[in-house]
Amino acid sequence: MNILILPGDGIGPEIVAVVDAALQALDRRFSLGLKLDRQDAGLVTLKSLGTTMPDEVAAKARVADGVVLGPAATEDYPSAAEGGINISAWFRSQFDLYANIRPSKIRPGVPGHVPAMDLIIVRENTEGFYADRNMAVGTGEFMPTPDLALAVGKATTEGCRRIAVAAFELAMRRTKRVTAVHKANVLRHYSGLFLKQVDAVSVDYPEVTVDKVIVDAMAALLVRSPEKFDVVVTTNMFGDILSDEAAELAGGLGLAASLNAGNDHAIAQAAHGSAPDIAGQNIANPVAMVHSTAMLLDHLGAKHGDDKFAQAGQFLAEKTDALLVSVATRTSDLGGTCTTSEFGDALVASILDS
Ligand code: ATP
Repeated sequence: MNILILPGDGIGPEIVAVVDAALQALDRRFSLGLKLDRQDAGLVTLKSLGTTMPDEVAAKARVADGVVLGPAATEDYPSAAEGGINISAWFRSQFDLYANIRPSKIRPGVPGHVPAMDLIIVRENTEGFYADRNMAVGTGEFMPTPDLALAVGKATTEGCRRIAVAAFELAMRRTKRVTAVHKANVLRHYSGLFLKQVDAVSVDYPEVTVDKVIVDAMAALLVRSPEKFDVVVTTNMFGDILSDEAAELAGGLGLAASLNAGNDHAIAQAAHGSAPDIAGQNIANPVAMVHSTAMLLDHLGAKHGDDKFAQAGQFLAEKTDALLVSVATRTSDLGGTCTTSEFGDALVASILDS
């Protein structure tokens, strides 16, 4: 299996180094037959090659089985014409990564804001209200006059159907519960189309229980009783906001894992950004990136029907969480005392320890 590793910008190289070492250790332990291809993209190649996304890297990404992508400091990128291609957006649009899967979980020993939670938000990633992803030409946000701003929300039957399928498939591998989050009481057509597809898809999954919750109620329920939810499926913007809320409740951005998946490709990328304020100090928390990679392995296992990968993904997630129990193997954002690289060393030792 070919995994392309792109460290990205800011804290990316530090946290992706931990992932790289962990993958090598897992390969040894589970005989995964991994081929790790390390390439550069982002500010490094902007300087050396004049583009944040070199053609050679793009070509390698197209044939890789999976990609581990560090954060991109897109705010520091020049225009696309000057070589500043938004790497995350490139992957999302080129590979049609319609499912953004974001888990949030309370872990033993990690200070969170709620007593119990173990849920996954399945966020539609290619439609909705974000101006960069709902038009073929032009953007979905515009100002006819200086005093009038309009934003277009896009929902298609196929877009809603496929994200619903992703959620129900996930639910079948967990506790068989799906919560569909919407605003159909106001956005009758936009959210209505989404709910209609959730209902249509649910017919194929009779074992799965479906609930529907209005997004504003969901924001409150996530704080009040997050333990009641398992797989939560929703449209783009609602999922973006609710997943950040859930991540914060679970202990913060350093733990916020995410997988971007389409039918043919999947990219492990932490939900957080490049954190320039702490880059180069060896203090960033690599856990979000590691858990994203565990999700990628699990995804590859399910896709290729290879249990070894699913086992390796679960093993990586469990070993990571086990380290978080001790202050000595937590980074400072979680009140711990270890550095990024020390966490990596402890993780590798724990993976190889029989
Ligand atoms: P970008 O411009 O790339 O989005 P940002 O700093 O605006 O970067 P984030 O990178 O998401 O946004 O960071 C928000 C805050 O969370 C920062 O203070 C950052 O240091 C912190 N943070 C983000 N990721 C981590 C991490 N993995 N470990 C520790 N702190 C983190």
